[in-house]
Amino acid sequence: MNIGIVGGGQLARMLILAGYPLGLRFRVLDPSLAACAGQLAELRVATYDEATALQQLADWADVVTFDFENVPASAAEQLAQQTAVYPPPAALAVAQDRLSEKTLFRRLDIPTPGFVPVTTRAALEHAISVTGLPAMVKTRRLGYDGKGQYLVRSPADLDPAFAALGATPLIVESWVDFQCEVSLLAVRGRDGATGFYPLTENTHRDGILRVSRAPYRDRPALNQQAQDYAQRLLTALDYVGVLAIEFFVVNEHLLANEMAPRVHNSGHWTIEGAVTSQFANHLRAICDLPLGSTQARGHSVMFNAIGDLPDRAACLAMPGVQYHAYGKSARPGRKVGHITLQADSAESIALRLAELQALMA
Ligand code: AMP
Repeated sequence: MNIGIVGGGQLARMLILAGYPLGLRFRVLDPSLAACAGQLAELRVATYDEATALQQLADWADVVTFDFENVPASAAEQLAQQTAVYPPPAALAVAQDRLSEKTLFRRLDIPTPGFVPVTTRAALEHAISVTGLPAMVKTRRLGYDGKGQYLVRSPADLDPAFAALGATPLIVESWVDFQCEVSLLAVRGRDGATGFYPLTENTHRDGILRVSRAPYRDRPALNQQAQDYAQRLLTALDYVGVLAIEFFVVNEHLLANEMAPRVHNSGHWTIEGAVTSQFANHLRAICDLPLGSTQARGHSVMFNAIGDLPDRAACLAMPGVQYHAYGKSARPGRKVGHITLQADSAESIALRLAELQALMA
């Protein structure tokens, strides 16, 4: 089976690594000649809206999927007219716009932080009278890793916030004083079968994911709540593939922050830490193959390598540690790899954590 991937970053690369043992072949489309998935599969360098490149990919591929969600909706629709495209373009369209996303969450009775859409400076003033202060001002589109966000603490921050972001439509959200952040990775096959990984606890710094731990403590009720919400989204979107949903935990309840219609950074621990990885399950789902077990194997902690990779030999000298380099050049703020520590128990993770943390610093 031939799989086309739009976007050639590390997510595409890890999909390819999971897909070769299944006998799948891959081609990727990316605007950059340096796209790291190009080290593993044929890379077509073209912008995401180049009709000929999309057509050639669709001609070759039995299924097309994505390694990021900001593919122009028109490109996803063009592909869908010619071949099978999963996740469905409608799911991409929703996830591209924070307002559509939160409106869908609310329609499905999935709780979210309070939010108000804003396009003018006057509307921004009004919005904070609804959300209160502090408030998080975000661009509706093209925000990722904390980019396109401004924390407004006092009315004096409104002018700089609007100057920084006001050129495009915005959403203003109530500030959530959460206990922690978690994500749920869900998967749905073409036949409607579903699977849910255990909740993952995520720590961000400067808006970028740094550490993911799974399974998230022993919280059956919270896992059940997250799975119920995910099931509503999977059904409403007639979804196929892996869907990630990020939540804030507030007083043992979940507030949905955002979703990603793709494999997700907070699911990288599943490569070693689950019976079937998120990458293998995404491919199984889109290829109409039986889904694999989403059960965790013991406990896992994943550290993102941001900017530069840690010392490989020092990491590999630690039992239970696996090293993932993405084949990308070092650059401040860039995700260049990740390291996973996996062990049978939370206690043995705790014993080794400080040592690994020191290597990641
Ligand atoms: P996002 O791009 O929406 O995932 O935001 C990146 C990170 O900023 C989140 O993971 C949170 O740590 C923080 N954040 C975003 N929105 C809020 C909010 N309404 N209240 C508190 N923290 C937030």
